[in-house]
Amino acid sequence: MASGALLKSTRLGLSWPGAKVVASQCRTFTSQLTEQQKSIQELARNFTNEHLKPIASRLDLQGRYPFEQLKQLTSLGLMGANVDEEYGGLGLDYLSLTVAIEELSRGCASTGMILSIHNFLYANLVNERGTPEQKEKFLCDFTKGSIGCFALSEPDAGSDVANIKTIAKSDGDHWILSGKKSWVTSAIEGSATVVFATVNPELRHKGIACFLVPLDAEGVFRGKKEPLMGVRAATACDITLDEVRIPKSYMVGEPGEGFRIAMEQLDQGRIGIAAHAVGIAQAALDTAMEYAKEREAFGKILTRLPSVKDRLTDMCILVETARLLTYRAATHVCTKNSAMAKYVAGRNAAAVADHCVQIMGGRGLSTNYNAERHFRDARGTQIYGGVTDIQKRLVGHYLLKEHGAL
Ligand SMILES: Cc1cc2nc3c(=O)[nH]c(=O)nc-3n(C[C@H](O)[C@H](O)[C@H](O)COP(=O)(O)OP(=O)(O)OC[C@H]3O[C@@H](n4cnc5c(N)ncnc54)[C@H](O)[C@@H]3O)c2cc1C
Repeated sequence: MASGALLKSTRLGLSWPGAKVVASQCRTFTSQLTEQQKSIQELARNFTNEHLKPIASRLDLQGRYPFEQLKQLTSLGLMGANVDEEYGGLGLDYLSLTVAIEELSRGCASTGMILSIHNFLYANLVNERGTPEQKEKFLCDFTKGSIGCFALSEPDAGSDVANIKTIAKSDGDHWILSGKKSWVTSAIEGSATVVFATVNPELRHKGIACFLVPLDAEGVFRGKKEPLMGVRAATACDITLDEVRIPKSYMVGEPGEGFRIAMEQLDQGRIGIAAHAVGIAQAALDTAMEYAKEREAFGKILTRLPSVKDRLTDMCILVETARLLTYRAATHVCTKNSAMAKYVAGRNAAAVADHCVQIMGGRGLSTNYNAERHFRDARGTQIYGGVTDIQKRLVGHYLLKEHGAL
């Protein structure tokens, strides 16, 4: 690097070679993405600006599931972004899906969340662990518009996964599943779900197994849509399994492997929710900036007021740190990276959305503006996919383990 350029970038607080490039493109982190990742990002960005941003508020206020938008995303291939091409997917890497979810969530958090769970918690699980027969039945249609779900949580077991009570009993060539699952995203609209159930309750987490269950199977009853605070165009509901009979071939992996499968899949799922949180946070920053550039108070545009400038700066730092951790988690997938990304991205999204409401004053509380929607959408990212408190415990666990201090 020429000394003049180095001096200039050092003044910007950036002193490593290539810092100039990074500085000019810091919002999108574009310089670090491959050509393929950039093109997926652009595709999702254009789709968001054209098809999601204009209708997100209406979908939210009406609590309307984005069927039409998901159909369009299916035609773009994004309902099977990581799925192998032979099963109808795009065969992309996790970071490509991550940047797409971030962009979609910037326009409509509900759509981003639905796509995140369908891909990271359903389609990728079947793609990576399913037998060829399972992929034929439970994957091919799911890259062409059918929606997949992930049923782990129960009324008495959310964070405490080992405590699940749904039971699977062997009956000749079949398993018979009974129990209740809660908060299953898209179960109302979905065609199939991954279900975790125990084959031996005494073994706790070592007795859990993973099954694929068609949602139209006899004995499956879907509950009412939960009235949600945020992501109101998405749906979540209970599923009751009343002696649901499924072929033995619908089990994924072996009996007793279910807990490990669930935890490993959640490592991916958390990257998706972190990306979703980054998208919501970016939307809140954009909303606040647009407003602050126009609004006057005390004879000055808001951006000239030191406290508002400070808030905007904090928001930018919160968004960027969350984005960097999320992209790192997507390229180096492990429990610690995913948990750290979700922990930071969820908390930062809530803080950024709070700043946005504050900058917009009274309008920040009005449903005629987007700030209050971002605020409501941001809050859930600290709950679903695993609560923030658990993410912190996971990071702490692996930190001590790395230092031989457990
Ligand atoms: C909109 C939405 C969509 C969802 N979608 C799905 C889905 O598709 N599939 C699915 O399986 N689940 C889904 N969930 C469920 C979600 O994953 C759970 O709500 C979440 O894991 C927390 O479980 P819980 O609600 O039972 O809370 P609990 O586990 O009861 O925890 C409540 C609180 O107690 C504290 N706490 C609990 N345990 C600990 C601990 N060990 N250490 C520290 N603090 C702790 C935390 O503060 C936590 O927030 C969804 C939830 C929502 C709201």
